[in-house]
This record gives sequence, C-alpha cells and structure tokens, in this order.
Amino acid sequence: MRKIICAAVGAAILCSALGLTACKKQEDGRTLYTLRGEYFPEERKLSAQMTVDFTSPAALSEIKFELWPNAYREGARYAPVSSLFSRTAYYGGTSYGEIDVTGMTGADGFSIGGEDQNILTASFSEPLEAGERAQIGVSFEVDLALVDHRLGVTRHGVNLGNFYPVLCNYGENGFEEYVYASSGDPFVSACADYDVTLTVPDEYVLISGFAAETSAENGKTAYHVCAENVRDVAFVLGTGYSSVSAEKNGVPITYYYYGDPAPEDTLSVAAESFAYYADSFGEYAYPQYTVAETDFVFGGMEYPALSMISSSLRTDDRRLAVAHETAHQWWYAMVGSNQFEHAWQDEGLAEYSSLLFFEHTPDLGISYADLVSESERSYRAFFSVYSQVAGEADTSMDRPLTAFSGDYEYRNIAYDKGVILLDRVRQVTGEKRFMQALREYKRAYEGKIASPESFIGCFSRAGANVGALFSSFTDGLCVI
Ligand SMILES: [Zn+2]
Repeated sequence: MRKIICAAVGAAILCSALGLTACKKQEDGRTLYTLRGEYFPEERKLSAQMTVDFTSPAALSEIKFELWPNAYREGARYAPVSSLFSRTAYYGGTSYGEIDVTGMTGADGFSIGGEDQNILTASFSEPLEAGERAQIGVSFEVDLALVDHRLGVTRHGVNLGNFYPVLCNYGENGFEEYVYASSGDPFVSACADYDVTLTVPDEYVLISGFAAETSAENGKTAYHVCAENVRDVAFVLGTGYSSVSAEKNGVPITYYYYGDPAPEDTLSVAAESFAYYADSFGEYAYPQYTVAETDFVFGGMEYPALSMISSSLRTDDRRLAVAHETAHQWWYAMVGSNQFEHAWQDEGLAEYSSLLFFEHTPDLGISYADLVSESERSYRAFFSVYSQVAGEADTSMDRPLTAFSGDYEYRNIAYDKGVILLDRVRQVTGEKRFMQALREYKRAYEGKIASPESFIGCFSRAGANVGALFSSFTDGLCVI
C-alpha cells in the first residue's frame, strides 16, 4: 500500500473545511479524480493538487497521463492551432502556456516526456498488481496563454478545457499516447468520476456541466462539482453572464450568454435538438446540460454535459454549431470513439445527427437536402483541388489526426465525407433500420470507446449489410 491520503478522505477534509458536501463514493473500479485548484487571474495561472485513485488493469511499473496544456508551450511540435487560424485565436499576438508538474506522491518517481512533452509518467519500483488500487497525488501549475481556444484566457473570460493531467487510455497495447493536433480533437480517455473544487475571484462566475455547490470566503468563491462516469471535466470562467433555461425529457438545460442577440433562439435549438437526440438515440446520462457562449476560434467544443459555443457565430451558423455540439453529448460524451485515429466516426456522426435534427425540425428553415448538397459540393471541390495540385487526393478516412495536411482536408474528410457516407448508408438501410442501428450503438457502447467495426456492426445487427459501403468510403475507393 503506498502512502497517500485516500482521495475520498482528502475530499472530505477539503470539503468540510470549505463547508461543502463531499461527492458520494465512487463505484468500485472506476477511476476517481479529486482535484482542488485555484485560479489567479493576474498571473494567468491555475494552481492545483489532484489525487487519482485508480485500479491497475494489469501488472504495471508505470502509469501515464496526457499533459494537454503543454501543446500551448513555445516550441511545441504539435501546436493546438494551425497557422491558418493562429492570428484569430491568439488575439493579443503570440502567447504561450504550459503545465508544470511540481510534485507527485504515491509513486517512486515521475518524468515528463513523450513525443512532444505531452506525457507524464509515474513509475513504481515495485510494480502494481492487476486489480490493485493505487492513489497518485499530482501537484501542478498551469500557465494559460492568451488564446480563444479550449484552454486559455479568452477576450472575455477563461476556457478551462483539458487543463489537468488525465490518464492515458489503457488499450490492448497498454497506455495509448496521443499528441495534440491543430485539426480535430485528439482526446481519448476512459470514463471516470470527478470531485473538483475550483476557487476563483468573486468577479468570475464558474460555468460547469454539473451542479456546483459554492462557498464564499475573502473575496473568492469555491465551486465544488461532482461528476460521475465522464471522460473529462471542463469549465468556463467569465463575467457579465446572463442565463436562460428550459427543461426537456426531465433534464434542465441552461444557456449562459453575454453577447448573443438571440439567446432564446439558441436555447431553443439546444433544447429541441437535445430532445430529438434523446428520443431518437436513447436517454441522456447526466443530471443537466449546459451550453456556454465563449470566445472560441472554431464553432464550438464539446465536453460531458457542457458545450462551448463561439461568441462570433450568428443565426444559422450558431444554430448549426449548437445542434452539432449537442449531438456530441451522445457521440463523444456518452458513446466514446477513438477520435484521434477515426475522427469521422465522431465528427461525421455528430454532424449527420444534426442534419437529422434539422430535417425533423423544418421550422428552423435549415434543409437536410441543402446540407448534404453543401457537403457534396465542398468534398468535390476539395477532391478536384487536391487531385490537381498533388496529382492525387488521399480520401481515406481512418487515419490519425496528424496525417491530415491541414484544416481544409480534415474538414472535408471527417465532416463532409462522413455526412455523405451516412446519408448513403441511410438510403441503403432505410429509415427504420438506420435509426435502430444508432439506438443500438448508444445502448451497447455507452461509457465505452467503440471501434469503427463496432459502429458498423450495429448496422449489421439491425439487418443491413453495409460493411462494403462503409469500407468503400473509409478506404478512399469510392467516387462521389
Ligand atoms: Zn464536433
């Protein structure tokens, strides 16, 4: 047994000191992250202690964590934003951030390495046994860049996404190490429980996907959040927010905004799309759903129970982003996939689900047929340009994010070709079997990371033989 204050005990001590209630004990076997942090705006720094209470899946002499904040550092090989979007994202000019791991308990040593200073390794002189429960304490400080992205000080507030060391996904070949990518979401992580307390100056409000209990002291507010069975947790800090709320399928839905000229419209799209997905694909897993307007270089970003939506969007673009990010609650948050290796399975399906919603909701005036045509037009233009410039266009879909030449290729392959593929699959299978397959996908793989074969297998189980159709698209052989 390695010496460290047990996470549950640590959380209880912390919470009672702040007058907050500790989260209820985790289910056996699931990893529990207990994180206590404070944000210091003058220094653009988050300082935190975290305990990871986890069950070793095998005999292990090392445990590995992803250090996503290091992608923002000077000299990073895999920067979080491409040169195309750099100027827009880094609104104040060049800016850097990073994570500094200042200490570890519960292991015999630690090091930072990986392909791009992206991996924290905790090592044990005496290996953990399979099934052994271990508690690793990590102290760290995150310096935030001035950037309108997942993690950074934005023009209006602070985005706290992927801000802490998170366990690398443990797959067939052990811990998987992924680098950041400027196109796509490189995050692959198993579901876990979280007990998070973040202290911020009073002028900020903390927006979370989960209900927060607050405790005020000396001009600061501590927010305590419990999140169960989620792939990660993220927050938005800001000032001057208003909110509007609705309820669908028994779930409270809240939209926090500060510049949106039509907040009721945005809330309505969030709520209606939420209800459509819940009715069509299966029940939502979390106690509430939150949408937050924030400064963001792309349209938005999904986290469990929380969607970030860019403040720069208006009318139809905002509706498209909200419906897309809300679909990710089903296809990312609940049903995970390896979005680093098979981005189409995540993005193509989320985008196509939003098309189904718009088809179901004609009042919004966004036509399914127009959206499919737009994807076809865009994809054909991409194919033509790449064929002419490079002599040939690589249209394969199953490839790592780092194998895309840039945002244009990524967008056309993962989103547009993904939409065209699923449109064709639906034509072949028919409406009933298509929707049955998506319900089966949600039912069978909720809380897991599903392979493309598992996804395609759901259509076979629904009685549709579409394996060859999928592979003609993913292998890059079919002509569109
Ligand atoms: Zn997406």
